[in-house]
Amino acid sequence: MKNTLMPNYSRLPISFIHGKGAQLWDDTEQVYLDALSGISVCNLGHAHPAIRDAICEQAETLLHTSNIYGIDKQQKLADKLVALSGMETVFFANSGAEANEAAIKIARLTGHQRGLSLPKIIVMEGSFHGRTLATLSATGNRKVQAGFEPLVQGFIRVAYNDIEAVERVAKQETDVVAILVEPIQGEGGIQIPDADYLPRLRALCDQHNWLLMLDEIQTGIARSGRWFEHQHHNIKPDVMTLAKALGNGVPIGACLAVGEAASRLQPGTHGSTFGGNPLACRVGLTVLDIIEQENLCQRAAELGARFQQGFEQALQDLPGVSEIRIKGLLIGIELDKPCPELVMQALEQGLLINVTAGQVIRLLPPLIISDAQADEMIKTVSALIHDFLS
Ligand SMILES: *Cc1c(COP(=O)(O)O)cnc(C)c1O
Repeated sequence: MKNTLMPNYSRLPISFIHGKGAQLWDDTEQVYLDALSGISVCNLGHAHPAIRDAICEQAETLLHTSNIYGIDKQQKLADKLVALSGMETVFFANSGAEANEAAIKIARLTGHQRGLSLPKIIVMEGSFHGRTLATLSATGNRKVQAGFEPLVQGFIRVAYNDIEAVERVAKQETDVVAILVEPIQGEGGIQIPDADYLPRLRALCDQHNWLLMLDEIQTGIARSGRWFEHQHHNIKPDVMTLAKALGNGVPIGACLAVGEAASRLQPGTHGSTFGGNPLACRVGLTVLDIIEQENLCQRAAELGARFQQGFEQALQDLPGVSEIRIKGLLIGIELDKPCPELVMQALEQGLLINVTAGQVIRLLPPLIISDAQADEMIKTVSALIHDFLS
């Protein structure tokens, strides 16, 4: 049979037909436990009844008009995100990459406003910001860029979690306008920087009048144990991007800004046909309501502590386990060698996990899992690692 899908994904030989909470069923009605949430998207699990109701009601009411007109649900979702984050304004897109494109455009406009004809953005090694040309150029992974040259210019790359490297750039370059950084690197392997890293980046940005732009697309929306990861550090960015879990599976992205960045995108400078449509925004509002009502920030923090304790107990002194990195429900277990085969082995045991950056086992479970489901994840993954390393 002719394959009618472009071959850009190497897919696992399985396909899920329906889900409920943290469980998924394949086309033979075999059941699986989801410890990945579609890569931090379905934070509220699958087929959440309140999300279903929101989608159904909105479909009966209004799906789309255009940003030519006012959109009440978009305004309401912006109000809510602003209240939760302390930011001032929001632009809505349909994906993470598009949210980051908006951030990059805000940075460039800010540079031109300041008289810089070629404004530059500092970005990090090991980062991931998306697959559009600008965001893959910002991404710190050669595999993502290879073959797509010429890359978009204007990015200066430094090592992650290295304040001195940023300070060196500050001394050498006069046309920097922003730093774009993930507060915890997700695709890079759940890399958690030192506790003072973000505050020190904030201080450098204040000192040099740069915009601090945080990509919270994977870390945001309660996954880290707070609404946004940066809230653990008592700082505020100038620009923040969100996507993934904001729609729990309905595509949405958002770029939030404060201060001078908040009004940078003037009429005619940016836009999106679908961005902020009534369906996506209605679902976004429902997602935020559920997180609030079910206290899921706190729950993510509690579960994170449970995973930490469980994995430390099971893996602590095991040779071959390099590091266990956990913040809320961002969970990375780094081994001392590549372990891509663990994904299929876990699937055979009925568990969805992921391996990123070659040798980091990554779990991003839904925030609604029970203690028993968390324990099952810990048990299955620990046993797989023990087998793999023995
Ligand atoms: C997933 C992700 C993106 C890209 O989001 P898309 O919706 O796939 O475009 C960007 N940044 C981070 C940190 C991500 O995890």
